[in-house]
Amino acid sequence: MTTTTGPFPGGTILGYPRIGRRRELKRALESHWRGAIDDAAFHEAARANRVADLERLVALGLRADDASIPVEAAHYDHVLDATLTFGAVPPRLRGRVPAGLAGEWLLARGEGDDAPLEMTKWLDSNYHYLVPELDADTAFSLADTRIVDRFVEAGRAGVHGRPVIVGPATYLALAKAEGIRPIDLADRLVPAYGALAEALAAAGASWVQLDEPALVADLDGATLEELQAVARAGAEAVRAAGLQVLLHVGHGDAAGRVEPLADAVDAIAVDLVRGSAPAGDGPLVAGVVHGRNVWRTDLDAALDTLRWLSERRPTSVGTSTSLQHVPHDLAAETSLDERLVSWLAFADQKVEEVVALAAAVAGDVDEARFAASRAAVADRAAAPGVRDGAVRERLAALPAGARDRAPYAERDEQQRAALDLPPLPTTTIGSFPQTGDIRVARARNARGELDDAGYREVLRAEVRRVVELQEELGLDVLVHGEPERNDMVQYFAEHFDGFAATEHGWVQSYGSRATRPSILWGDVSRPEAFTVEWIAYAQSLTSKVVKGMLTGPVTILAWSFVRDDQPLGDTADQVALALADEIADLEAAGIRIVQVDEPALRELLPLRVEARPAYLAWSVGAFRLATAGAAPATQIHTHLCYSEFNTVVDAIDGLDADVTSIEAARSKMEIVEPLQAHGYGRGIGPGVYDIHSPRVPAADELDALLATATGAIPDRLLWVNPDCGLKTRGYDETVASLRNLVEAAARAREAV
Ligand code: GLN
Ligand code: ZN
Repeated sequence: MTTTTGPFPGGTILGYPRIGRRRELKRALESHWRGAIDDAAFHEAARANRVADLERLVALGLRADDASIPVEAAHYDHVLDATLTFGAVPPRLRGRVPAGLAGEWLLARGEGDDAPLEMTKWLDSNYHYLVPELDADTAFSLADTRIVDRFVEAGRAGVHGRPVIVGPATYLALAKAEGIRPIDLADRLVPAYGALAEALAAAGASWVQLDEPALVADLDGATLEELQAVARAGAEAVRAAGLQVLLHVGHGDAAGRVEPLADAVDAIAVDLVRGSAPAGDGPLVAGVVHGRNVWRTDLDAALDTLRWLSERRPTSVGTSTSLQHVPHDLAAETSLDERLVSWLAFADQKVEEVVALAAAVAGDVDEARFAASRAAVADRAAAPGVRDGAVRERLAALPAGARDRAPYAERDEQQRAALDLPPLPTTTIGSFPQTGDIRVARARNARGELDDAGYREVLRAEVRRVVELQEELGLDVLVHGEPERNDMVQYFAEHFDGFAATEHGWVQSYGSRATRPSILWGDVSRPEAFTVEWIAYAQSLTSKVVKGMLTGPVTILAWSFVRDDQPLGDTADQVALALADEIADLEAAGIRIVQVDEPALRELLPLRVEARPAYLAWSVGAFRLATAGAAPATQIHTHLCYSEFNTVVDAIDGLDADVTSIEAARSKMEIVEPLQAHGYGRGIGPGVYDIHSPRVPAADELDALLATATGAIPDRLLWVNPDCGLKTRGYDETVASLRNLVEAAARAREAV
């Protein structure tokens, strides 16, 4: 295949979903892990999936011959691909990582006592990457040829593609290292990019895409100038091999951040949905098609932007980020409302938008497509349900103080009288193991093989079992166990107006795991109570207090595709009022404690420091709006996890919950100190049992964690609980662990 050089092609996408249209890659991964297929069969399945996607992109109109099509498609994670490509073996596993798939799975999933690489969120998305682990002895080389092999494979399938790899600045900014700053390893890492580029050049590549979103974020551990210098060095190393460089930043505003790199790269791909164009006259891939949401692009507006830009500089059409954050194909949805469908675009539809816009910039406007886009934009703006008068009036008429409860001292006194709990009360975070029986019953109910009454009886039996178990264990505040919830967000979306659920809208979360985010398309309200039945039933079975369980507004937004036609804060307030209605109904049914989970509070924190105060104001405000209507005697709990929360202690305090349970076991109670330093003076339950593994915490471990907690937190404020819900655990380890937890609390209580 000949090398094409020249200007960047007219239209491109920055990346494509990799899990497969029918989650073929997920199935191949899980079959291989189970031992059901061998290495060769796995590689063949992964290859077939990659080639099918390339063919699909060509069929959708991307050009096959000019590097328009990105070539990536990691087995598990694209950051792990860079780690493997450059041989950056974690220090603790040096000399022990086998070649091939066994080594890849060791890093991704761990084995025996060898923990996997840590997983964390990719920028402000809900995708998790594997964090590189480096140290002063880390050396980088071209240790694995997967990036080159996939380029060659694409060529065999008739596609002269564009290899994609995480750039060196972002790789190091997202890594962690013992004893040194990862960014200080740049001088060693950059030559490995040069070696990769030489191999790609030898294989006939023309363009390489370096993903450098770290340039538009404010990350700890490296300054902007350092990131720019490393990104430049990486680009120069690739160019030295005779290749052209597309620098892709995406995920935010590139203006003011990438200008100094213009002379070191051949084109820059920027996010014009969330940011503006950087200054200069260099070639731009204008990301006018949103890579992170599912709304159809306003083609007229996008074309205006593109025409304005192309009068000033060479301009290509692109997506704002990789499309890996959206589902494959809207056409797979057969039961979504037709009108809603006309407003949506999944990955394949976004590719078509890019192609249509590129043609239009070149003078060939597909009038029918533009007319359809125009009609969809107009229809969405006027459709019933998108604006619901009652919801809007209620929000507009919020009284002063609608986000404030009575002073804590007053609440505390009333709650102590109403609840009569022992010191260091024990509780759990909500879910109990979701057994195979529950899943089977849910699936049978969905297929119509088990009627609603039968399904309900299965769930009620599970609630009885969970309540009995908690009584037997001697927990103080009980839960119903959440057996009726497939997912903590989707369950709420299904019971609120303004939401729709997809059938096949899977988006990779990590590895073989995918989620199906709901689509929040209209004004949100709650037609009727939907958790009360379950929680009141649990309460009817016991004289102990049962805690109601709700998902908070920020988490509901974070894990859904959210309308883009109004500020997120306005949408969050609508969800908050729907939750406030549920809390009122729970209170009316005699429930005295309600937990409102906000595990995603930290996840939506903007990447840029200057945007954080506004975010924290609306997110904390929405939580307070949801909970402020509760009577002073009703105890409001919240729960936070999946992140380190040290930087948002202010916001945690601002939630004004009576009790906050927070993940803390693995970090050895790290959060306790900053909370105390802040003067946090309400109830707190730092998790003492790490539920992310089947390990049963031993008595002395629990005692040590509790000793740390009691040393820092006044006894009257301390709660004893696990890190998170138990739904992914099995019953055996859950029972053993909770037994140890209750006993440890009893020992600690004697000391107070
Ligand atoms: N109440 C939820 C549960 O126990 C909380 C889950 C979460 O924090 N992610 O499963
Ligand atoms: Zn949690």
